[in-house]
Amino acid sequence: SLCLSQDFDFFYFVQQWPGAYCDTKKQHCCYPKTGRPVADFGIHGLWPNYKDGTYPSDCNPDSVFDRTQISEVLSSMEKHWPSLSCPSSNGLRFWSHEWEKHGTCSESELDQKEYFEAAIKLKGKANLLNVLNNAGIEANDEMYSLESVKNAIEEGIGFTPGIECNKDSAGNSQLYQIYLCVDTSGSEFIKCPILPRPKCASTIQFPKF
Ligand code: 5GP
Ligand code: 5GP
Ligand code: 5GP
Repeated sequence: SLCLSQDFDFFYFVQQWPGAYCDTKKQHCCYPKTGRPVADFGIHGLWPNYKDGTYPSDCNPDSVFDRTQISEVLSSMEKHWPSLSCPSSNGLRFWSHEWEKHGTCSESELDQKEYFEAAIKLKGKANLLNVLNNAGIEANDEMYSLESVKNAIEEGIGFTPGIECNKDSAGNSQLYQIYLCVDTSGSEFIKCPILPRPKCASTIQFPKF
């Protein structure tokens, strides 16, 4: 309908490296109530975006997060989309935030159940840690050129990713988030119409977790 189906051009599928979320200069992290996540990328979100880099948010205050709609994927969500913010949580707050801020803006394409399922499927399809490890890029506190990280992902996925860095407590630029672009159905990776503004140094650390 007119007001609910705010159009968008593509999704950013954003994954975070827990090692980089947990050892920043400013903040530590808290493990979820379900325990320490495995050493893998975790989903941050699936974000509707416009080609010019702007994005819609909070598109439908009437569409509230409803945990009963994700009961079938709950255990996958806990594994692949853990919340590392403090205080420790079971993920529901994070998922609810992501649904209300971002998911409500793609409701014309994906309902709540489809939205979370799409993200889980995309994570399996991308298998980023495998792609990086196969290129010899491991989460071992070593430094890697930003180019080598981008190239490995381009080889593995077929498209150049966006890479976001943050700083560890010593001020090193480190791999924090990886942005992949996805078509509006939430199923296929595509060439990014626009990449997030680069913030990484030319050499970045891939921290242990
Ligand atoms: P930050 O300021 O940490 O980069 O981003 C804060 C929040 O703004 C993110 O968690 C996300 O909700 C939103 N955001 C930042 N960049 C983008 C973007 O390029 N596209 C969309 N859709 N949301 C973004
Ligand atoms: P965004 O608005 O950037 O999509 O999402 C960030 C919000 O989700 C922040 O309010 C942050 O505190 C919360 N959050 C909860 N768990 C996590 C997590 O594991 N990673 C990130 N980046 N944000 C989280
Ligand atoms: P938010 O609005 O998402 O609560 O928090 C704003 C920013 O602080 C986000 O970009 C998120 O990455 C960061 N942040 C929030 N909570 C935590 C936390 O517990 N640990 C770390 N390292 N960063 C956090």
